[in-house]
Amino acid sequence: MIVMKFGGSSVADAACMREVAALVRDAYPRSPLVVLSATAKTTDQLFAAATKAEAGDLATALALHAALIQRHRDLGRELLEGPEPALEAAIDELAGELDLLLRGVGLLKELSPRSMDAIASVGERLSTRILAAFMGAVWVDARTVMRTDATFGTGRPLPELDALAAAILAPLLGPGKAVVTQGYIGATAQGLTTTLGRGGSDYSAALFGAALGAEDIQIWTDVEGVLTSDPRVVPEAQPIPELSFAEAAELAAFGAKVLHPATIQPAVEKGIPVTVRHTRRPQGRFTTITGHVQTGRPVTALAHRGPVTVLTVASARMLNQSGFLAKLFDVFARHKVSVDLIATAEVSVSLTVEADAPLDELIADLSEFATVGVARDRAIVAIVGERLKHTPGVTGQAFGAMRDINVEMISMGANEINLSIVVVAEDARKAVRNLHQALIGGGQS
Ligand code: ADP
Ligand code: ASP
Ligand code: MG
Repeated sequence: MIVMKFGGSSVADAACMREVAALVRDAYPRSPLVVLSATAKTTDQLFAAATKAEAGDLATALALHAALIQRHRDLGRELLEGPEPALEAAIDELAGELDLLLRGVGLLKELSPRSMDAIASVGERLSTRILAAFMGAVWVDARTVMRTDATFGTGRPLPELDALAAAILAPLLGPGKAVVTQGYIGATAQGLTTTLGRGGSDYSAALFGAALGAEDIQIWTDVEGVLTSDPRVVPEAQPIPELSFAEAAELAAFGAKVLHPATIQPAVEKGIPVTVRHTRRPQGRFTTITGHVQTGRPVTALAHRGPVTVLTVASARMLNQSGFLAKLFDVFARHKVSVDLIATAEVSVSLTVEADAPLDELIADLSEFATVGVARDRAIVAIVGERLKHTPGVTGQAFGAMRDINVEMISMGANEINLSIVVVAEDARKAVRNLHQALIGGGQS
């Protein structure tokens, strides 16, 4: 079997839905499991409606609800050439549920991650109902399969999902038909709705694919694969035909939105190739991500992510003092803050954390044994390539490209395929463009 995941832009309107249906039908002989995102902008609108309700503006929240439901009703009616009773009933039910949820949030003026997940789940449940009705495909509620822990907002998948996929999805799959389910959403063992975090449908696709032993996990989106850089920053960015799992993981972790950062892991574990393709150009170029890629290019792609905050922790006593780093990281662990980049000097350590990390608490604890410098609004620019370590001169070229940009921190990843540079956030785009020009150029393909 194969997994075909379609992102929001691939199911934006009736024309897109028809293209998706055609691609899925072409894949019927390969027993496709279709994993769908909410339609374009829907998840953002659900977040907006929930935030309005929490702020006490229930009128706006309900207006957003009405518009969103109408848009889906219209989409369904256009595809099915009129109201189809089963689909209308499914949409009515979801509309009623969303209405109750928003009113509840509005009454309490409280929006917990748990409530937000319940509200967000409506997007994927709507889009999948429509595609399944249009295709006459089997619809499965992903919450019966995608078992997660109760970390609402960023649910972590649990091993039970493998057995659930084997018991629930596998018997429904087969040549000549498709099964349609939702990306992004899951549920706890108690049946509480969770989500895997924004952009999580890619991760769902990989988890389902790994659980079912898929031959291929296809991520269908609005670009011809993973490109050498974010095309919104570098218009001449080119598709990368082959990418290693490690490169893809680094790019995703350092901001390449095309793949959710956790996507690759389940595929790596099972050795299943992941392909990234353009829904509107199915015959076009695409990227294959596999375990072994032997190519000659020193730099595969660039990614960037920000804003991040750089903390510089200095202790006069660090000199020759063992245990300083243990104490330091203990503070980050206690506050559940993950550290991305680290650079050490004789008496100080610089590290980057997410912009929304609890800085006051961190600084209070760190100040007990060190002085802390804080630099906000920084960005990480990552240069990624399997052969980076074997290619002398790349670093020199990279620094040449950065000659008129202030570099604040540098870190070579321990896997030696990622050279990361920290700059002031407003310099990030320029840094990426300069580096692309110097290290990749316009014509790689
Ligand atoms: P989907 O809705 O299909 O999940 P996303 O918007 O999440 O699509 O991801 C696709 C987008 O990621 C592209 O349109 C592009 O703007 C952005 N992007 C950022 N970096 C890259 C990259 N290196 N390669 C391709 N796309 C990228
Ligand atoms: N619909 C979700 C989001 O917008 C999940 C996804 O698109 O992958 O974040
Ligand atoms: Mg996405």
